[in-house]
Amino acid sequence: MAKPLPSSVLCKPVCRARGGVHPPHNKFTAQSATQTLPLPAAVTIPLAQHIGAPCLPVVSVGQQVFVGTLLADRTDALCAPIHSSVSGTVKAIGPMICAGGRLADGVTIETDGNQTPDPDLQPFPVSSAEDLVAAARACGLVGLGGAGFPTHIKLRPSPEQPIDTILINAAECEPHITSDDRACLEDTPLIVRGMHTLLAALQPKQVIVGIENNKPKAIEALVREIEGNPDAENWLRVMPLPSHYPHGAEKILVQVATGRRVPAGKIPSFVGCSVLNVSSLAVLQNFIETGMPLTHRRITVDGPAVINPQNLLAPIGTAIQELLDFVGVHEPPAKVLSGGPMMGSALLNTAMPVVKQTNAVLAFDKKNDLSDRHQAPCIRCGRCATACPMSLMPTLIERYAKINDIENLRRVGVGVCMECGSCAYSCPAHRPLVQYMRLAKEIERKGRT
Ligand code: SF4
Ligand code: SF4
Repeated sequence: MAKPLPSSVLCKPVCRARGGVHPPHNKFTAQSATQTLPLPAAVTIPLAQHIGAPCLPVVSVGQQVFVGTLLADRTDALCAPIHSSVSGTVKAIGPMICAGGRLADGVTIETDGNQTPDPDLQPFPVSSAEDLVAAARACGLVGLGGAGFPTHIKLRPSPEQPIDTILINAAECEPHITSDDRACLEDTPLIVRGMHTLLAALQPKQVIVGIENNKPKAIEALVREIEGNPDAENWLRVMPLPSHYPHGAEKILVQVATGRRVPAGKIPSFVGCSVLNVSSLAVLQNFIETGMPLTHRRITVDGPAVINPQNLLAPIGTAIQELLDFVGVHEPPAKVLSGGPMMGSALLNTAMPVVKQTNAVLAFDKKNDLSDRHQAPCIRCGRCATACPMSLMPTLIERYAKINDIENLRRVGVGVCMECGSCAYSCPAHRPLVQYMRLAKEIERKGRT
């Protein structure tokens, strides 16, 4: 009989999240050990992979680069440097369409097939909060499951708002995606060493991994890695969460793990918490130990059009088409998403590259592409409002967005919408509510400028 998990390492959520939905998990690749994608002939690495202004290139055409060589940087606070994911020669630097439709430069590198690490890379020892912030920046780390918020900003200590709780986000509540699950299983010691690093540098009261209970093997791996170490058992915890979308949303995770609510327009540090994605933590700890920055992503490639769904390790800058060619598709996909079915965004085309935030690529055939399904008028059933974890009224927001009513959009709190898609998922009339939420937020944002 399996040895029971020690209660000293486990902890429970303090409250339930409001609203949310229960889409089918479809974690078909949970048992798929990560495969390394064959090296592409060339990669194109966009210089806009974070929420701030794009980086500026520090390499030139014809230059030889190695894995981990700095390609671009910028001194702005909201910036994370960008490194080469391959060894080879810079062939071009020029404008391209980046994630989210932004226009910015990209660096195209022809690979030499050797994947030689940059000889200047050195471990980056961390013994203080300042060191940790510097490491996160030098590593080029951004939120790997989200909008590309630079991690060094999240980790920066503030005397007014000391961090007492660090949450490691391994919830991975989106259907299909298993890349964080595989990280927990394949990088367990690295993740737990990373938790120790956070503990030593930031000195919080606790470091908690929040993980949905549909990942029992990952929960067991993390608990076994922590158990038996008295130091670790005092400070490190694993919190299995009910499988409930969107538990992986940062503000929701803070709420269920600590009972604290992050106000609109604020980040978790405002309530004494810092949230770090579990894959981000593994990358950061690897950088601290080896000096190798963020150059590759573990990506779940799945969806009804895919023949052989699996998790792939791919260099940043690889064309999405290379991933699809490797797993095979039944027919040319009608739609390809970067990210999960709830919050992912449709790709303009499959020549677009893997970026730091790419955690999944989902390909849908015509039969399973629901984007063209019939939309009916709202029947005022209220299901969207019940499903909204932020207590918003999506129908009101839709109405105010259609008439450009900025004042009322602010009054109903459109700014707190995290575009989780729970409202659209529950709507029997198939209203495109997330699109309206995005439009409404844009109208409200433009009204401020
Ligand atoms: S997308 Fe916005 S409005 Fe819709 S459920 Fe999520 S938070 Fe609420
Ligand atoms: S769930 Fe759809 S039909 Fe029901 S109130 Fe909301 S928008 Fe209208």
